[in-house]
Amino acid sequence: MSETRKGMLLVISGPSGAGKGTLIERLMAEDKSLVFSVSATTRAPRPGEIHGVHYYFLSNEAFDRKVAEGAFVEHATVHGNRYGTLRSEVYERLGRGENVVLDIDVQGALNVIASEKEKVSIFILPPSMKVLRQRLTGRGTESQEAVERRLHNAIWEISQRDKYDYQVINNDLEECLRTLRAILEAQRHASAYYGVDVPEE
Ligand code: 5GP
Repeated sequence: MSETRKGMLLVISGPSGAGKGTLIERLMAEDKSLVFSVSATTRAPRPGEIHGVHYYFLSNEAFDRKVAEGAFVEHATVHGNRYGTLRSEVYERLGRGENVVLDIDVQGALNVIASEKEKVSIFILPPSMKVLRQRLTGRGTESQEAVERRLHNAIWEISQRDKYDYQVINNDLEECLRTLRAILEAQRHASAYYGVDVPEE
């Protein structure tokens, strides 16, 4: 038997501080079938971030032009900045059989869940609100006010978790990775993505 596979659209989201960034980095380092969809954003680059690698950093006007051109699969305002998934990052690659990873916020994910027929959506949960607060404070990158805003947003975001295909608690990084690998492996065999040519002999 020979196998054929269609590309998978993997939507990974969850509240800020749940740890999805680290999980995605680890998964991508070990699984070369995964490709990252580089989003557009109006936020300023952080030290070390590279245009075209981490994000496409656009002005508000350039972002507006992309919206008008219909260049986005989805776009949303997150913590005061605009972010969008570019069609050019997604569909051609899926067509080539690559598995495209979207690291997007919950509003954007719900839009993709509603608009894309074939996708695998995973919600990453923190073990508790207390741990989420500790993680957000511990980063040291946000003001107290920003931490409170993110925690407030997290309550609504977490209330949306049942709309995803899978929910994974990020209590222990390695255990969470094992679960994510298992989900990916099972999904590779979902009939939506999988095909086999059955030889006569
Ligand atoms: P950061 O600015 O810290 O890189 O990302 C802030 C949030 O924006 C994260 O939750 C991230 O997942 C989300 N985000 C990044 N790219 C996109 C995108 O293209 N669309 C949406 N809706 N959210 C995004």
